This record gives sequence, structure tokens and C-alpha cells, in this order.
Amino acid sequence: MKTDVENIACPYCAHIESSHWATENGWSVVKCRKCGFLYCNSRPSQTLREQSTQLGIHAAGANLDIVERRVPGKVEIYRRVLGGMFIDVWERDQPISWIDVGAGYGEIIEAVQKLAPKGSTVLGLEPMQPKLNAARANGLEIIEGYIDESTPVCQYASVINIFSHIYDFDAFLQQIRTILVDSGELFIETGDMSDVHVRGQLPGELGLPDHVAFASERHLEGFLKRNGFIVVTMERVRTDTFLFAIKTFVKRMIGRDVKVRLPYTSPYRSIRVRAKKAVSEFGSDGRFSTPSLQCGSLCE
Ligand SMILES: [Zn+2]
Repeated sequence: MKTDVENIACPYCAHIESSHWATENGWSVVKCRKCGFLYCNSRPSQTLREQSTQLGIHAAGANLDIVERRVPGKVEIYRRVLGGMFIDVWERDQPISWIDVGAGYGEIIEAVQKLAPKGSTVLGLEPMQPKLNAARANGLEIIEGYIDESTPVCQYASVINIFSHIYDFDAFLQQIRTILVDSGELFIETGDMSDVHVRGQLPGELGLPDHVAFASERHLEGFLKRNGFIVVTMERVRTDTFLFAIKTFVKRMIGRDVKVRLPYTSPYRSIRVRAKKAVSEFGSDGRFSTPSLQCGSLCE
């Protein structure tokens, strides 16, 4: 039985009406009738969620383990991805400060350490104890918990595959602003549902209810703009590779609720964004606001 759940309006535009889109593990994804945003509703309450995150167990109480494990191949992947997207930063050859939010096992920290000029500070923030301990054992500098006033202010922040976990992405981006210097930069990567119209087009699991929101390019861009970020670079990449198909097949063999699809057939993408913190036009509440962007580009 589901206990401790909450019903919500669209996290992007606050519209109430939605239509059912998919079901997984007894939880549902709905699509906002106004802006098309896909989100889990009902979802686990915030209290239940925070307890689960700290312990590294699934919010649904199902025996799914959300801890996963370190993936050494990720270091090389992100060394290439960030190496290309931030090439001007590395070529400048000046020490930088970089914080990876939701650092997990620290693969991104390792990747940035390989790229960053001598004298740079590269650290991570991670709330989940088992991951945190593993990363520290690997010699990485990781701070426990979430963003707060004690979090170091850096020139660069990365937020990789975190979007789906965030309950209030506006509030999250406002927090990111507080840990970035003026004109500091943010790297975000998340799934892109722009061209996914029905559940069957999506490779792999939705990951409910650990995942509660599903981005598309226009929603992500809207979130960034209305929270005071200027998009510098945006690229979309395919995720349904041959290797992904094999991994999905293995998950199905061990009884997970996944659909195996032919590689290179899904319209699902990953989106990678480099964005800069804008430094003007604050409202009296300290939040970044411009009238034309208050509701994002989708609500006009
Ligand atoms: Zn909406």
C-alpha cells in the first residue's frame, strides 16, 4: 500500500489538469495538458524521499536498490564530453574551481581533475552515504549533503542526470546560483523527451518513483532562462546504443520491468547544456526575474 504520497500540479507551469501517460512499479507519469511536461503524480512525499535518499533505498519501499555502483567507463566519457564543451576553459590554463552536485561515486570529479589546469579545486556534493563513502575511499573530495550556505562557491558546477530526481527545479536552480560566482557556469545533462510521444518509444525504465520529472529541451531551456541562466551551448545525443540494448536485455533477464528495443531506433535523447549565470535584474525577493520570462517560453 502506498503511504505518504503527495498530489501536485505541473512542476513547470502549475497547471492542474493532466492526462495519464505511463505506469511503472505501481506509480504513474502524467502529461500536463497545458505545457506537455511529464511528471510523476502522485509522488512520494518530500519527507519519505529525503529519508530514502540518505539511506540509499528506494522511496517506494520496493526492494529496488538505487545505490548502483561506480562506473569506471564514465570517467573517460566525461573527460571527452567536458573536454570538448569547455575546451576554452582548459586552454586558458588558469586554475579553476568546479563542484559536481550529486557527485555519486565521483566519476565526474575524476574526469574534471584530468582536464583542469594545475592548482584547480575539484570537489563534489553527495547526500547518499554509501556513494559518498566509496568516493572518499577513492581519495576524492566530497562534501556530504545538499546545497546550503556552507557549500563552497565555485566558478563551475555540474549537474549530471539529476533533473529527474528534483522535486522543485526552479528552487534547485536558485540554489545553484548561490554556489556560483558571478558569470559562473553550469553544465547540465539529462534525458530529453522532446520527441518521445508514447511510453513505448522510450528505451529502458522510467525509474519511478525515484525519478519524478522528465525533461525536454524546451522545458529545460525555460527553467534555465526563468532562473537567470543564459544558454551557451546545447547538444542532443543518442542514448539507445548497441551497448544500451545489451544492458537492457540483461535487466530483463533478471526480471526488471524494461522493454528491449532495437538500438538506434528510439527518438529519446540526452541533452547537454552549458549555461552561464546572468547577473542582473533581481526582484525584491532576491530571485532572478524578467517579466517576459516569468512563466518560461511555454506559457505565453
Ligand atoms: Zn505544465
